Amino acid sequence: MVRTEILDAVRAYTDPFRVTSGNDFFLKNFDPGDTLGLKMHKEEALQLLQRGSKWLAMEQEILYAQDSWSVLLVFQAMDAAGKDGTIKHVMSRVNPQGCDVISFKQPSAEELSHDFLWRYGRKVPERGHIGIFNRSYYEEVLVVRVHQHLLDAQRIPPARLGDNLWDERLADIARFEDYLTRQGVVILKFYLNLSYGEQKKRFMERLHNPDKHWKFSASDVRERRYWNDYMHAYEAAIRATACEAAPWFVVPADNKPFTRLVVAAAIVEAVEKLDLEYPKPTQGQMKDLAAARAELDAEAVDGTTPDQPGGDPGH
Ligand code: ATP
Ligand code: MG
Repeated sequence: MVRTEILDAVRAYTDPFRVTSGNDFFLKNFDPGDTLGLKMHKEEALQLLQRGSKWLAMEQEILYAQDSWSVLLVFQAMDAAGKDGTIKHVMSRVNPQGCDVISFKQPSAEELSHDFLWRYGRKVPERGHIGIFNRSYYEEVLVVRVHQHLLDAQRIPPARLGDNLWDERLADIARFEDYLTRQGVVILKFYLNLSYGEQKKRFMERLHNPDKHWKFSASDVRERRYWNDYMHAYEAAIRATACEAAPWFVVPADNKPFTRLVVAAAIVEAVEKLDLEYPKPTQGQMKDLAAARAELDAEAVDGTTPDQPGGDPGH
């Protein structure tokens, strides 16, 4: 398929969920159970996803060879929304050498001794790489906003703890992303939009299935009590940071195959848009390639190894 066709095909899955301006963004306008009317048979979704992952693997190889652009994928969601599974499925065919997944948990003592963006800035993917942030600097305006005592551990001078702290942090994040995009980092942000009811269902499944007990933590249920606070924080974050250069995707998360499909489509679309091609060799490199070919051609046909100038290498 040519690029324009691919782009047309994937846009059907990405356009409805892309947010590029915060002006009239409301979370309530996005249905966590949406599947665009598709009856997502598992088989069909799996096939589409496999095609997407294959494309992505091909594009990633060119990204790596070019060593210029990089891609940062930010994943945010409430617990049990399927971040881990989505990352695993979407990136399944990508060469691990050019892909880094970083999970951000509670900050360490060292991290707390620095400015709030410090630990994230160090993990931004290098040129040619795809970096996945499983949770990200957005936690600084989500969990820290919902549980404000977490701010104490950050030891910000009281003179800098103004009334506009959260708006200022959001503006700092928007500027940080703006800076990165101008450096050639393509940023896509995914909010896996899970419903309150579906989260309960998934927690119950984890409780009933011994193989899923390891995924369950009592604190997840405690966090659920703060659901509305989280929704407000998410809405404020998306509103303040959605832009053309670093869009948010509010991905329906109640149907896992559909979630994965939308995420894969958004990544394929963004990378396709870069119109990447394998780097063309320079004249000098062409000469080197010709010389290497000539040298290999001149080798003895029977595969004899060359005489070692320093005598028998075995002694
Ligand atoms: P899963 O539960 O699917 O394995 P997870 O991302 O929820 O993955 P956990 O170890 O359960 O991983 O949780 C990480 C915790 O770290 C979350 O509760 C998150 O809110 C918290 N966290 C992340 N960043 C920060 C931060 N900057 N300050 C305080 N807490 C944070
Ligand atoms: Mg968790």
